[in-house]
Amino acid sequence: MKKLLILFMLASTLSCTSQKSGVSDVPPTNYINTISATDLKNHLYIVASDEMGGRETGSLGQKKAGDYLINQYKKNKIPFPKGATDYYQKVPAAFLNATRNENLPDSENIWAYIEGSEKPNELIVISAHYDHVGMKDGEIYNGADDDGSGTVALLEIAQAFKIAKNEGHGPKRSVLILHVTGEEHGLHGSRYYSENPLFPLANTISNINIDMIGRRDELHKDSSNYVYLIGSDYLSSDLFNICEEANNKYVNLFIDYKFNEKTDPNRFYYRSDHYNFAKNGIPSVFLFNGVHADYHKPTDEVDKIEFDALAKRTQLAFSIAWELANRENRPVVDKNGN
Ligand SMILES: [Zn+2]
Repeated sequence: MKKLLILFMLASTLSCTSQKSGVSDVPPTNYINTISATDLKNHLYIVASDEMGGRETGSLGQKKAGDYLINQYKKNKIPFPKGATDYYQKVPAAFLNATRNENLPDSENIWAYIEGSEKPNELIVISAHYDHVGMKDGEIYNGADDDGSGTVALLEIAQAFKIAKNEGHGPKRSVLILHVTGEEHGLHGSRYYSENPLFPLANTISNINIDMIGRRDELHKDSSNYVYLIGSDYLSSDLFNICEEANNKYVNLFIDYKFNEKTDPNRFYYRSDHYNFAKNGIPSVFLFNGVHADYHKPTDEVDKIEFDALAKRTQLAFSIAWELANRENRPVVDKNGN
């Protein structure tokens, strides 16, 4: 009896200690498992359908894809962020056309929001671009992987956080889901957000960006059980460790750091939307699965997506976000990014 009591006391001491060390109270396993290949597939068959016309920035097709995303948020009762008047952040044509002298119409970033329960003023931004390159010579570029895959991943991540919140286990910090526009024309939507942030960048503790996670590349012909992480250790050792731990605890993908090498000639770190956060000193990680023969071709189609692999990579992004949202301290910036 006594022994049992001691054990009990020891156990409760341990659980207090683990809370203080920043481990979240509830394991996210149930919520990770709400992210399913079937859901991702159902969403992607719509987002990357011909009806969306290749989602060119500012086009009707892109707006239709945007309507679909917003309807999913409404259906799941996930609101637009506090301080906004709707699900859109308008990105004016003048901004889109300023750097490359193009002729794009007005477009929109789309956002949704899960408010934190304990540190609502600290924010994690999870981003993916929902524009693609439209049509050329009568052919539709559906961009199922680029970046339909990241776009539908955000829907599932938002839903997982919302289910957790409904069960009383919402994130302690706030989560902004950000579908950015104009990526293919020069990362415009994310740059617009970074110059017109809804929440102060100083309170934005991290960015998780997802672009092309539905396929495998030549270097991984034999297995889709991998992801490239890029940038996680550029600004913050904490972020690197969080990504590693989240993967080891919950997902077990092989993390390939090939493109994280600063000498890599592809320079992917500078080529997707996280860079507009990273350049402002915000610890950022980019999830990516490499390029393939259908990259920026009309053959980047939904039937080539590996949905089980897409689900695991989405689960990793959610697990990283969960750790960032619930740990006691925000990731420390201890490196200069160079
Ligand atoms: Zn892309």
